[in-house]
Amino acid sequence: MSTKKPKLRRPLYVLVAFLFCGLAISLLSMIVMRLEGEMPVFQLESPIHTIGKSYTLKGWASDQKSGVSRVWIAIFQQGKERMLFDRTYPSKGFFGGSVVQKQLVSLEIYVDALGLSEGEALLRTAVWDHSYRGWWAGNRSYSEHKILIDTRPPTIDVLTRTHNLNQGGAGLAIYRVSEPGTDNGVQVADRFFPGYSRFFSDPNFYIAFFSIPYDEGPDSRLYVMATDPAGNTCRTGFAYHINPRNFKQDNIVVSDAFLRQSIPQFEHALNIAKPSASLIDKFIAVNRDLRRTSDTTLKDACKKSDTKQYWEGPFLRLPRSARKAGFADQRKYQYNGRTVDEQVHLGIDLASTPHSPVPAANNGRVALAEHLGIYGKSVLLDHGFGLFSMYGHLSRIEVTRDQVLSRGDVIGFTGTTGLAGGDHLHYAMIVSHTFVNPVEWWDPNWIKHNVTDKLKTIK
Ligand SMILES: [Zn+2]
Repeated sequence: MSTKKPKLRRPLYVLVAFLFCGLAISLLSMIVMRLEGEMPVFQLESPIHTIGKSYTLKGWASDQKSGVSRVWIAIFQQGKERMLFDRTYPSKGFFGGSVVQKQLVSLEIYVDALGLSEGEALLRTAVWDHSYRGWWAGNRSYSEHKILIDTRPPTIDVLTRTHNLNQGGAGLAIYRVSEPGTDNGVQVADRFFPGYSRFFSDPNFYIAFFSIPYDEGPDSRLYVMATDPAGNTCRTGFAYHINPRNFKQDNIVVSDAFLRQSIPQFEHALNIAKPSASLIDKFIAVNRDLRRTSDTTLKDACKKSDTKQYWEGPFLRLPRSARKAGFADQRKYQYNGRTVDEQVHLGIDLASTPHSPVPAANNGRVALAEHLGIYGKSVLLDHGFGLFSMYGHLSRIEVTRDQVLSRGDVIGFTGTTGLAGGDHLHYAMIVSHTFVNPVEWWDPNWIKHNVTDKLKTIK
């Protein structure tokens, strides 16, 4: 009977020993795991070079193994350290749980409040993880970034004295900005016309072609503005005079014959109206929505302009042609005696004999040569420094993108592609993103007084 007891106890010892070993092994492996040597990382969302009066610093602290335990950020200048951020994050605990593997750090730096002065400083960042290495201190990554504190706005010196402008027309301002690397240009009401360096050898000299849009009156507010890399902005006014212009009211009668002829080309290619819609509804969709899309494509193509003045002398007008519609004609479209749509015509329509050769109005680079919605087969030429000419409704395009052309080279032939009543050339000129009156650019006197004389005087 007495031999029965040990038989019952043995499995219990084995179980206890087994549990103990298991616990010891998992503890050991936990400790080994927590002795990981992978360095935590602090990564700025975007590199910081310059800080203005205030700056929002954003960065990610991360550690894939034991997790982030502490993030510390400071600015060091002239022997003094200003602490910006110091925070600790919970560990996994002994038996596990969640841990911060990636943490966004976002903080505002106010230069005046921190007593920082103009000039160089060091941004110091440190991040620790929950590793047991370094006698439980964890792995630490430390880095320094050289930054520049700049709270002074740049200054602008406008060098062109007179700016005699026409509503719907173009202008040129030449100015010097005190600091390099600024974003600058001429602001006309809510439109910004970027300035370009590289016309003059001094990199601080800029030229900016701008426009008084057809829908801005003579009391539009104009100024030159510049923003430096630290975000300090300066604006400077200049002398100008705006001549108001009245634009022609034009009634266009839309006939069923025109609709039957012109609408089918848009029906399959574009999802602009219900297939069951009437021809006049489809026309309105083309005239309104497709016009907007086509203009957006054009303006997007004008966002990048070469810093090279290709053009020279007055722009060419389509030879032996009659003007059929003017710039900024206020068009009312009449169908069966009622006005169905209103649009502004932002080019000049020129008609010659059908399929007439179309010359490049001036030297330039082909920025676009494709079928472009309501404008049909179109060519856009970049003349440099934000100045473009555009040719629409062509029957054939004879040039390819990026080809550099000379004034008079044939770019294609007139036609009726796109939304065109008859064979003609739709000729437009664009400054940065705004259609301008081409008439000015055909006039050698206007070019001399408003552009070339100014460029020569400053040279
Ligand atoms: Zn036109």
